[in-house]
Amino acid sequence: MSGGTEPHRSYALCLAVLALSGCSSFAPAGDHPMSAPSQYRTWFEKTRACSGLNGDFDRIKWFVVDGDEFDCPSGKCVGRWNDDHSIFIARAYTENEMVVRHEMLHDLIGHPGHPDPPFGNPCPLTWATWHGGDTTAAGPAGPAGRVVAVKRPNID
Ligand SMILES: [Zn+2]
Repeated sequence: MSGGTEPHRSYALCLAVLALSGCSSFAPAGDHPMSAPSQYRTWFEKTRACSGLNGDFDRIKWFVVDGDEFDCPSGKCVGRWNDDHSIFIARAYTENEMVVRHEMLHDLIGHPGHPDPPFGNPCPLTWATWHGGDTTAAGPAGPAGRVVAVKRPNID
């Protein structure tokens, strides 16, 4: 148990990363609170398993954002994690395992960057590394059988 929700500490951390990430002040337009589909709990367990990290699924606050993508500090995003354990998913990607689990992995590691490990290896939760069969996640397969994404919107 980490108990890492002490307000002043979170606030200091927030200030420290504000310039880079926009921190938890970020909230897109057109977001709606969402109760997580039961599928998400399974995906969370898979993400915990691949990363070896512990977390608490029930502390995550989920939001769905209208449309295919939304404005975020890095441009346009289809997913976005904030350090107050809130996760925003564009409506078009709420059933996209890679995008949803990518955001879960942020919550497990507790910061917005993409260090490898665990992003990529051992958890292939990026456009470049995802090998799932969901073609909506990664676009058509390339000539060598590798997954080549047509479009790779940001997953913050
Ligand atoms: Zn990310």
